Amino acid sequence: MPRKKTFAVIGLGRFGSSVLKELIKFDYEVLAIDINEERINAVANIASHAIICDSTDEEALVNIGIKNIDHVVVAIGDNVQASILTSLIIKELNVSEITVKSQNSYHERVLKKIGITDIIHPEQDMGKKIARRISSSFVSERLELSKDHSLLELRATGRIINKTLLELNLRNKMGINIVAIQRDNKLIIPDADETIKNEDLLILVGSNVSLEKFEKQLLL
Ligand code: ATP
Repeated sequence: MPRKKTFAVIGLGRFGSSVLKELIKFDYEVLAIDINEERINAVANIASHAIICDSTDEEALVNIGIKNIDHVVVAIGDNVQASILTSLIIKELNVSEITVKSQNSYHERVLKKIGITDIIHPEQDMGKKIARRISSSFVSERLELSKDHSLLELRATGRIINKTLLELNLRNKMGINIVAIQRDNKLIIPDADETIKNEDLLILVGSNVSLEKFEKQLLL
């Protein structure tokens, strides 16, 4: 069996702790690092290892074996200088995958200059996601698959009720695929003769343009 990927999360604020908990849920080995003892104590019983350490101290990072970690997440927020220094050290230690939470555009520019490519902005991304969700009365979940394509989860209503997928012919007419239907807590991978029922939860994939057209024309 291939060895399971190992992770480290540096900075255990709300964001870092939430990344840590989710990785643990997926059964990964995760090393938790923070300069603050209380933050370390708060995760000590869930993280695989939890260590109090100033991540701007290169020697300390080397001593805890950061070089052996496959993917390091730098989740230090307010202290931009500490985030940049930590990222630089980890980059120079040749950790193969690095994800850094950026606080603002200057922070991001410096991170790019030192060669960090996976830079995330959780607050902005979540804001965008929530704005999209609340601006559509139908869509309950949206996942961007690329710049132009999304996966949507929405409640069936309007003109599509009691029609089969063949009758709707969304794939040919609009380039939209209904990939799954959730009904009565069961997931159905639909055939062409599946009939859409009121309140079905549909999972669709298509271009953003055609998904918007679908919402405006067929769900009313
Ligand atoms: P969030 O917005 O995710 O809730 P926060 O506002 O609670 O974060 P931040 O200032 O973003 O806190 O810092 C996140 C964590 O990073 C804190 O727990 C802090 O102790 C830790 N941290 C800051 N500097 C260092 C450092 N040099 N080494 C290790 N950990 C650090």
